Amino acid sequence: MTELKQQDSVGKVWFVGAGPGDPELITVKGLRLLEQAGAVLYAGSLVSQATTLYAPKSTVVCDSKGMTLEEITDWLITQAQQHKTVVRLQTGDPGLYGALVEMVQPLDQAKIDWAVVPGVSSAMASAAAAGETFTLPELTQTVIFTRMAGRTPMPEGEDLESLAAHKTTICLFLSITLLADVQKALVNAGWDGDAPILVVQKASWPDEEKIVRGTIKTIHDQCRAEKINSQAMIIASPALGARYWPEIRHSKLYDASFTHRFRKANK
Ligand code: SAH
Repeated sequence: MTELKQQDSVGKVWFVGAGPGDPELITVKGLRLLEQAGAVLYAGSLVSQATTLYAPKSTVVCDSKGMTLEEITDWLITQAQQHKTVVRLQTGDPGLYGALVEMVQPLDQAKIDWAVVPGVSSAMASAAAAGETFTLPELTQTVIFTRMAGRTPMPEGEDLESLAAHKTTICLFLSITLLADVQKALVNAGWDGDAPILVVQKASWPDEEKIVRGTIKTIHDQCRAEKINSQAMIIASPALGARYWPEIRHSKLYDASFTHRFRKANK
């Protein structure tokens, strides 16, 4: 790894959430940083290359798809020695399954300044694409962001069956190839096999987004038929499809008989 003293470092590394795919879903702050970036490293397996086009033509742009962690951090350190603004573009929000800590520790060691700009997570974009809400009064007021164990094992007590016992909204990242296990865990946790479940692939990607609605029983076969096996979010929630229900509990905030800080109740 590159050895640096504080005064050698001129630049700052920004870990910027690129959003879920649509280049317009980056934040204004992320966009401004790209516009002034001397170097941009983007995760090409998940971040649309179109997002890098906000950077000037003279910017050094590199795809990290084939790089190891050490190659990534060495690249960031080297670029921060040459440029004031270096952007590491991460999919969605950098704080979710983004290997952030692994990347910032070597920067700290090299005394390189860094900061994070949050992004729109693919979980949010998936709900938005399908016109769904994660929370509904008196039905579910909690959202669990999780994944199935893959090559990364799950910590004790965080297996889906235990989490699903809460019957809240659950967003499953990195788990689309494990749908059979998802089905099993939900049913074992007491969910009805006929309960609705949603899969969104490439949420917000222009012309590439796919939305599949099914039940816990049917979703695996549906996704197989649609050849969905990557970049997809699985959402299980008691609130799915609520926009079609004749009656729902309304939020107190807009209830005419409810007084709050900004409005008095009607008599
Ligand atoms: N930090 C990212 C998640 C990275 S992990 C975020 O906040 O969204 C990668 C996983 O995110 C994928 O396996 C998939 O489950 C999900 N994902 C990323 N982009 C997606 C998209 N556009 N649509 C649906 N799921 C997506």
